[in-house]
Amino acid sequence: MDFTGKTAIVTGGSRGIGRAVCLELAQGGANIVLCYAGNDSAAMKTAADCEAIGVKAIALRCDVSDSVQVGALVEAAVERFGRVDILVNNAGITRDNLVMRMSEEDFDAVIAANLKGTFLCMKAVSRLMLKQRYGRIVNLSSVVGLRGNAGQVNYAASKAGVIGMTKSMAKELASRGITVNAVAPGFIETDMTAAMTDAARTAAQSSIPMGRLGKAEDVAKAVVFLASDSAAYITGQVLAADGGMAM
Ligand code: NAP
Repeated sequence: MDFTGKTAIVTGGSRGIGRAVCLELAQGGANIVLCYAGNDSAAMKTAADCEAIGVKAIALRCDVSDSVQVGALVEAAVERFGRVDILVNNAGITRDNLVMRMSEEDFDAVIAANLKGTFLCMKAVSRLMLKQRYGRIVNLSSVVGLRGNAGQVNYAASKAGVIGMTKSMAKELASRGITVNAVAPGFIETDMTAAMTDAARTAAQSSIPMGRLGKAEDVAKAVVFLASDSAAYITGQVLAADGGMAM
């Protein structure tokens, strides 16, 4: 994939899937603006690893659920690189519990980071992309947004919401050279799933036709395809990167 001269914003780019997306885009020649919640050392390392590939990269602390911080993130990207071609809405959190034990705070926090954050970032780049008449937006949903999962009502709602938002935004922007798609990962080996018990991991594995958990790179390849010009005629779609789980 050739991204030479392009600028990509990747939210939650410090670790896991976001880090893999940053590196994959950098391999294609894109300059990277990554944001993160608080893990300075992981963010600096990803930015440095992108620069070692030969592109420019900046890492900025930015809570995607805060419109002022998101505005500053996009402004910083424009100031540094002059444009934003690609937005990957990857930042996300879980606060799992059964509904009866789920606090209102945990429900709100997950919706704010995963769903409102995606909305705010898309809103912040949309004017710019419309002016450029070019843009690629890729939103991270989840197999849980497609199928639901006990103990994840908040997360499932946020990820199903991301799909509805992706399709609506795709319709709003389709005539202007801007595509909006989603990737729905299954169980991927990152910090997010590291806390799973062995029993939960075995159960997850047995529900995956390919018989293994995914790697961050498995998801990054799907994201980068949708961000590329090879996917120029694809919009409003949800691509599952899940070893066959959701079929
Ligand atoms: P992860 O390893 O837990 O990393 C989460 C990333 O998001 C980190 O970079 C974190 O920053 C950042 N972040 C969290 N809250 C943020 C906020 N409010 N503002 C800005 N950045 C924030 O997660 P992951 O497993 O790579 O997941 C990435 C995406 O894929 C998420 O949207 C997740 O829901 C989705 N997904 C993951 C799986 C899976 O199995 N792992 C499956 C389906 C979907 P810090 O490093 O500073 O904390």
